[in-house]
Amino acid sequence: MERRKLVIIGSGPAAYTAAIYAARANLSPLIYEGFFSGPAGGQLMTTTEVENYPGFPDGISGPRLMEEFRKQAERFGTTVLAEDVASVDLKVHPFVINGSPTVVQADAIIIATGATAKRLDVPGAKDGEFWQKGVTACAVCDGAAPIFRNKDLYVFGGGDTAVEEAVFLTKFAKKVYLVHRRDELRASKIMVERALKNPKIEVIWNHVLEKVEGEQVVTHVLLKDVKSGKEMRREAGGVFFAIGHTPNTAFLQGQLELEPNGYLKVKPGRSYTNIDGVFAAGDVQDHIYRQAVTAAGSGCMAALDAERWLSEKGHIE
Ligand SMILES: Cc1cc2nc3c(=O)[nH]c(=O)nc-3n(C[C@H](O)[C@H](O)[C@H](O)COP(=O)(O)OP(=O)(O)OC[C@H]3O[C@@H](n4cnc5c(N)ncnc54)[C@H](O)[C@@H]3O)c2cc1C
Repeated sequence: MERRKLVIIGSGPAAYTAAIYAARANLSPLIYEGFFSGPAGGQLMTTTEVENYPGFPDGISGPRLMEEFRKQAERFGTTVLAEDVASVDLKVHPFVINGSPTVVQADAIIIATGATAKRLDVPGAKDGEFWQKGVTACAVCDGAAPIFRNKDLYVFGGGDTAVEEAVFLTKFAKKVYLVHRRDELRASKIMVERALKNPKIEVIWNHVLEKVEGEQVVTHVLLKDVKSGKEMRREAGGVFFAIGHTPNTAFLQGQLELEPNGYLKVKPGRSYTNIDGVFAAGDVQDHIYRQAVTAAGSGCMAALDAERWLSEKGHIE
């Protein structure tokens, strides 16, 4: 079985940044970029314009940005496998990575498998419909886009993130409607008070999204009252899902310590997991910032931590 100094699992900004640093340190990293597990290139492959990644004053499309990340990683000697990792064995060393089909051993591993934004499965909101044509799952990323300016925007969710996103969107929107399926928000009291006091936010209680309608982009939402079953069709310039993320950790089968919310647990301010030689970077270990630039920054940290660890343990000179 082939043995590698460093294997990186994932293909978003965290994985490729880790690969750039590791490759330049002569670690010849191997990346499993994923196949069925998510778009190779990560979450930015599902978005159009990225306007907040430094270095691109005119913005850059998500897929184009990820192509550049990948090229830069390959330029310095990263090998990229278009495969998912089905499982890993972290109880042995060298660790075993069961890709499908390539199985390798690794002295160190960086896990950068990201998180998947949850979406409501309703007609009109899917890929090929109005997803990324007015429907999104990231207000901080997309809220400032021209298509949302001075429009009625709808945020779906009831936790802190939903309230934060609603407040953020008031900067651009004509009005923000926060739609929740219950008659009480799950968000913290202080956040709820902030939202309820904001004249630009109106909470629509006990309603769910039934359908998203539009032409080129979103124009209307169909909401249903969960108590009476009555439907209402409202004009809408944007639909924002704020119903949480699922960190992509299933393939680890419980071998690494997680935070209570399911994110990988790392040593504060570092990329060390609870297993020596296994590092984590990007959204899979970050439920707070979840941005491309923070993912890239933590990928750099993981590569530097891994390189030092490999050197300390005598796996590299
Ligand atoms: C619609 C949308 C728009 C966004 N816009 C912006 C923006 O404008 N600016 C910004 O800064 N941030 C934006 N974000 C957030 C940003 O995309 C993420 O913070 C960032 O991509 C996280 O990077 P990551 O490297 O942690 O992993 P991800 O980008 O999540 O990539 C992880 C990848 O790892 C791979 N993978 C998963 N499991 C496995 C496995 N078992 N085996 C092999 N591979 C696997 C998959 O290919 C997966 O796609 C947006 C997010 C979304 C959803």
